[in-house]
Amino acid sequence: SKQRAKWVVGNWKMHGRLADNAALLQAVVQGAGAFGEAVRVGVCVPAPYLAQVQTLLAGTSLVWGVQDLSAYTHGAYTGEVAGEMAVEFGATLAIVGHSERRAYHAESDERVAAKTVRALEAGLTPIVCIGETLEQREGGATEAVVGAQLDAVLAVLSVEQAARIVVAYEPVWAIGTGKSATAEQAQEVHAFLRARLAAKDASLAAVPLLYGGSVKADNAETLFRQADIDGGLIGGAALKSQDFLAICAAA
Ligand code: PEP
Repeated sequence: SKQRAKWVVGNWKMHGRLADNAALLQAVVQGAGAFGEAVRVGVCVPAPYLAQVQTLLAGTSLVWGVQDLSAYTHGAYTGEVAGEMAVEFGATLAIVGHSERRAYHAESDERVAAKTVRALEAGLTPIVCIGETLEQREGGATEAVVGAQLDAVLAVLSVEQAARIVVAYEPVWAIGTGKSATAEQAQEVHAFLRARLAAKDASLAAVPLLYGGSVKADNAETLFRQADIDGGLIGGAALKSQDFLAICAAA
């Protein structure tokens, strides 16, 4: 059995309203009692809802965070949110380098690496997202792509810092498409990533590796049973308490 911590983290993306958030979180908190310490359950929410989420989740077993953070601590960066600001609202997580940010906001590997450092310096656990496009997979470039994405982050971290990150393998073709990677496809990449981490330092074999991309209640168990899959980053299915709780139960 796997000794590493298991995680299920919801990525709400740009969804939510105060009333809907409250109903969702109340149901998740009620259901999450069943998992106890076995699974770390978190939600990454739009920044305006951090205060609400802190109020609703403080004192529960759930943790929360943001979906992005600035590469800077403060300054003339209109519209950005610093990791330190999220920490003031009890956040402990920050998704970094989600493929939607890479694709729609031109986030380079170097920017993702800088944000990872900033998250760690703010005291947040960065969930670093990496993954190949369909074209890259079909061209046989999956390992080259995710290896380079991971290396760009590892290059700027000390071993001690790298030991504090979480990595999410999210094939771009599986995100929001309803077309999950098969458990075999995901495990193959996770094993590759774990070996790459261990090659930097043996201690980094313990870095949690989450799978993301159309995880649902009915495929979560098969995915999470794989030797190198330590849980999931969940988009669409995190918006429905029953689905999200079923996925947590599978971890
Ligand atoms: C995501 O946004 O990180 C994600 C995995 O989305 P979905 O589960 O909807 O594919």
